[in-house]
Amino acid sequence: MPEKAYQRGLVWLRNDLRMDDNTALYRAAKACNALAVIFIACPQTWRSHGDGDNVVAMRLRTLKALQASLAKKHIPLYFLELRGFAQVSAALEQICRKLNIEALFANAEYPLNEQRRDAAVRETLRSVGVPVEYCTDRTLIPPGSLTTGSGEGFKVYTPFKRAFIARHDNRDQGFEPLPAPRSLGADHGDLWPEWIALEGEHNLVRAIPDTVGDYGVAPGGDSRVLEWAVGEGAAKTLLEEFSAIVADYQEQRDFPAVPGTSRLSPYLNCGALSVRRCVQMALAENDGRWVGSSEGASCWLSELLWREFYQHLVVNFPRVCRNLPFKPETERVPWSRRTEDFERWCEGQTGVPIVDAAMRQLNQTGWMHNRLRMVVASFLTKNLLTDWRKGEHYFMQKLVDADFAANNGGWQWAASTGTDAAPYFRVFNPYSQSKRFDPDGAFIRAFVPELEGYSAKDIHCPPNDLFSDRSYPAPVCDVTESRKHAIEVFANLKS
Ligand SMILES: Cc1cc2nc3c(=O)[nH]c(=O)nc-3n(C[C@H](O)[C@H](O)[C@H](O)COP(=O)(O)OP(=O)(O)OC[C@H]3O[C@@H](n4cnc5c(N)ncnc54)[C@H](O)[C@@H]3O)c2cc1C
Repeated sequence: MPEKAYQRGLVWLRNDLRMDDNTALYRAAKACNALAVIFIACPQTWRSHGDGDNVVAMRLRTLKALQASLAKKHIPLYFLELRGFAQVSAALEQICRKLNIEALFANAEYPLNEQRRDAAVRETLRSVGVPVEYCTDRTLIPPGSLTTGSGEGFKVYTPFKRAFIARHDNRDQGFEPLPAPRSLGADHGDLWPEWIALEGEHNLVRAIPDTVGDYGVAPGGDSRVLEWAVGEGAAKTLLEEFSAIVADYQEQRDFPAVPGTSRLSPYLNCGALSVRRCVQMALAENDGRWVGSSEGASCWLSELLWREFYQHLVVNFPRVCRNLPFKPETERVPWSRRTEDFERWCEGQTGVPIVDAAMRQLNQTGWMHNRLRMVVASFLTKNLLTDWRKGEHYFMQKLVDADFAANNGGWQWAASTGTDAAPYFRVFNPYSQSKRFDPDGAFIRAFVPELEGYSAKDIHCPPNDLFSDRSYPAPVCDVTESRKHAIEVFANLKS
């Protein structure tokens, strides 16, 4: 067997909770004779980043599944709960000392605070002689490595996509998934203690709790959020199932009542599935091309590039990580202070059926269809002229797939405040969207039972007689008037 560089290595997992095709884990397994894995929960920092109960529950449940899989390979997974990122460097330094760790491996994370935390860890561990390797894994290529002709990060998706495809289409892709580590044998498991005492708040343990800090298991105990199967096996099955219908993706993806999208976002975000596995599947259905004979697979690959684009954006334009709009002039939008409108939006009680059905889908299942994310975000920021940051935060609280880059990108797009944003004069009409994408009202009926008896014609914009019995609220605003007002407000920013 070739000599390995280190006796003992530590893999620090974050949003990459899988064994398969995990770059940091793969590299550590190659470089180290003995290997342990650690996950550090930082509930106070997670709260300050807006992470809600659902995404944290998904993370912890996935971690448990991963621990069981790693145990079969005799690789221990340790758990540590700290308050926040500020405690991480000192804790890792102690852990490396007590476990005789010679090198630390992790996959890079890109939002600003994560980058600062990782730089501090590198610095602290360097001072005690432990090298740290951060690998590219969450994205296909390192953010910052694809630039415009003038060397800047792309601000608009389409040229980004074009440049990406020009560089990678029909070439040796370099996105081939990596194998999971092999079993290290029962003796390997014996090398590692059950737990270790640390100075400060918590000890390093093996047991993974159901919840951390002040997080609940799921909001209001809504069990449908917990119906998401967890772990890499579940993600792999879903990917396989989706491969059978990916050819129809372009035609089906906009209809919320139809299972036409992959629903893989929760798995991509906690890392139970790698983006390279998704690319591998779609390329196989598309003659190995990014733009190939399958319109469905080509379209799905484009969506994976939206994900890539937003991840790159937070690195190229860290301003978006500071709770600021990308377009500074939009800071002057006189956002509405009507909290009642916002509350009605959150509760799915706006009186606009497609918006209410979508918000109830989010509240009940922790997920919302992409078409509807665009509709409800446009409705909140334009028709109700409510600050996009309130919607962004609410989504983070509820989504089981909450991801800072995609969520911030989606909200700034809808609010016309972002890099690659919808032009401010293009405002979604929720009634036309409803007629077009839920033509027989099946989606509305599934989430707004008050409207169950309405015909396909009336359900999108119920006639006034319904409101008199108070079973369903009258619309919170006049869609035509509020649209006109929003356009005026945005147009005035230019003058
Ligand atoms: C206001 C708003 C907020 C959003 N918040 C999030 C979020 O917090 N987390 C999140 O993962 N996505 C977010 N999205 C993007 C998109 O809605 C979801 O990724 C998608 O609905 C997930 O469903 P799916 O897995 O079935 O997607 P598919 O249609 O099967 O697409 C496959 C994958 O591509 C990626 N993807 C697809 N569309 C987008 C997009 N527009 N932007 C970025 N990535 C995309 C996702 O990783 C997705 O899982 C948001 C979009 C909007 C408009």
